[in-house]
Order: sequence, then structure tokens, then C-alpha cells
Amino acid sequence: MTFIVTENCKGCRFTDCVAVCPVDCFHGDDEMLYIDPDECIDCGACVPECPVEAIYDETQLPEDQSDWLQINAEKAKGLPVVNEKGDALPGAEERKKQLGF
Ligand code: SF4
Ligand code: SF4
Repeated sequence: MTFIVTENCKGCRFTDCVAVCPVDCFHGDDEMLYIDPDECIDCGACVPECPVEAIYDETQLPEDQSDWLQINAEKAKGLPVVNEKGDALPGAEERKKQLGF
């Protein structure tokens, strides 16, 4: 099992999630983060930290977000680890409001 970062993370990058992750399983590009399924220990600590509810337990992933399982696995492998909380991306607050949070 693993946890999955989904669509809502795009343009956010508040990175509250990485600050609580006990292992280095978050990886990021310029747009969003991805979880390496081989590193994630399924602790669930990141889920309540995400202000836009982007992170799901694999077993609770909504059907319309199912593509993200493979996307996380593929993307995480080739991207650098993000394990320190950084500044949110420009426009992150607006995006959060647009998403209804
Ligand atoms: S807190 Fe949520 S939206 Fe922000 S970077 Fe982490 S997963 Fe993405
Ligand atoms: S479930 Fe735990 S190990 Fe997996 S990404 Fe979230 S905080 Fe990290």
C-alpha cells in the first residue's frame, strides 16, 4: 500500500506534508509533489497536514483520481527529494480558495 498525491496539489506546494513525513518519500517538480510508493511507510501523518486534501490512502483514492497511483510511482523516481517545508508557490493561496478550502 502507499499514499498518493493527487490533482489538488498542483500549484500549491505549501509543503506542510513533508515536514511531518518520517521518511524521505516526497519528491517534487516545479508544480507539485509525488510520493514514492517504495519509501512510504503508510503512517498517514501527511494526510491531515495538507490544506487542500490532496493526499489519499491508496485504498481510498476516488475513481476519478485513479491515474495518480501510477503517476506518483513514475514521477517520484526521477525527481529530487523534498523533505523541508518551503515557501508556497506564487498563487497558492488563490488556488486554495478556488478549490474551496
Ligand atoms: S501540503 Fe498538500 S498540496 Fe501542499 S505540497 Fe503537500 S500534498 Fe501538495
Ligand atoms: S503516509 Fe507517512 S510515510 Fe507516507 S508520505 Fe505520508 S507521512 Fe510520508
